[in-house]
Amino acid sequence: MTFETVIGLEIHAELATKSKIYCSCSTAFGADVNTQTCPICTGMPGVLPVLNKKVVDYAITAGLAMNCEITEYGKQDRKNYFYPDLPKAYQTSQYDMPICKNGYLDVEVDGAIKRIGITRIHIEEDAGKLIHDGLRGASLVDYNRCGVPLIEIVSQPDLSSAEDVEVYLERLKMLLRYAKVAECEMSHGTMRCDVNLSVRPEGSDKLGVRTEMKNMNSLSAIVRAIEYETARHIDAIERHTEMLVQETRRWDDVKRRTFPMRNKETAADYRYFPDPNLMPIVIDDEWLEEIKAKKPVAVDEKAEEYSAVGISDKEIAMLLSNHKLMSLLDDTVALGCNPKDTASWILTDCAGILRKDGKTLNELEVTAETLSTIIKMVDSGKINRNAGKKILIAVVEENVDPVAYCKEKGLDKQFDSSAIESVIDKVISENPKAIEDYNNGKVKAAQALFGACMKELRGAGDPAVIKELLEKKLSK
Ligand code: ZN
Ligand code: MN
Repeated sequence: MTFETVIGLEIHAELATKSKIYCSCSTAFGADVNTQTCPICTGMPGVLPVLNKKVVDYAITAGLAMNCEITEYGKQDRKNYFYPDLPKAYQTSQYDMPICKNGYLDVEVDGAIKRIGITRIHIEEDAGKLIHDGLRGASLVDYNRCGVPLIEIVSQPDLSSAEDVEVYLERLKMLLRYAKVAECEMSHGTMRCDVNLSVRPEGSDKLGVRTEMKNMNSLSAIVRAIEYETARHIDAIERHTEMLVQETRRWDDVKRRTFPMRNKETAADYRYFPDPNLMPIVIDDEWLEEIKAKKPVAVDEKAEEYSAVGISDKEIAMLLSNHKLMSLLDDTVALGCNPKDTASWILTDCAGILRKDGKTLNELEVTAETLSTIIKMVDSGKINRNAGKKILIAVVEENVDPVAYCKEKGLDKQFDSSAIESVIDKVISENPKAIEDYNNGKVKAAQALFGACMKELRGAGDPAVIKELLEKKLSK
């Protein structure tokens, strides 16, 4: 029998607000433990939370990016659970009136467009972080993350393979980053993913027994986990290796298998009820229009704009999920540089230099002014691309002034056509045999002379210019 996998995702993305959802504590990453807390986010009795408006702005933006209906009237609910990562013993979330619902994302899989339904997007608070200290046999808790705003994006079970999940997550990440709503960096824990999976005979419309894998935090682990769970489910059905039960399972990426964690809770276990301390959320047209006017979700228009000037699809994907690179490109182009060319200076040359130092483009510190100076020196023929690359290396690594560095190293002089001419003269005088061959009709001899010139110039001259000057001299 052939089986198909049915997958739905619940994604938690930390919102990029500066302060927490119900208090003014900072959300900055990397501070000392328990330094970004207050009576509100540590759930002291008697405090009153106040909703951060930016959280709703961002949730609406995410909803617009995913073609959702935005509710006019929302409320917040308490989801009760008893665990030390949340001292209030409930998480403020949204139960039956989320900010966004009934949306979709179109993704491209194997050249075909697949529509993934979005059931809902709601806002909620994050919990603290437990650190299990094996040495002292104790568990420690850091409340800095407590009250950091999240959106939870729940998809329909419309995904059917690890590949589907991969493209869906990439698309979602690009949209949220482009809209500056969330960082979505799984390795930083700012995006976490719960995978709901079941299998059924192909063509059947009944869903099989579903298991959930919680808090997956790397794409490659998700792919492995989906492959493992699919095989486990099929084995259980076909060969009766075990009895499938609806439960939450933990993926162990070292052992490469899942383990049962607990029986899946139902909504009733959480005893949801409206939070009496929080006002309803009323979203009127004015608020909605204000957000739409900022065009935060025009990612496809931007992609078309880049594509029209010849930037490749792969480069576009890199740019659209990184505002820093996008601004660098746009600003450099605004200073008069060619877009396609500039994209390659940034995404190939700068990336290559950083990679050698074990860094990524996120650590690039070049300004548009500096980059455009280098590109213009090359474009105007003042230096060749090799020299430009040398200057770029010094700029990226040591933040030098490009013009001063070029002068200091004599990179422009090497490209001086009189300097090239004297090299050509020297090569010609040293290779009488090649000249004779050339004059006797052996056109290939010119190739050897050209190579000798390049070698002599150590890659400093523009090959096209050298070729032209050489041919001119040979034809005399
Ligand atoms: Zn606080
Ligand atoms: Mn949640």
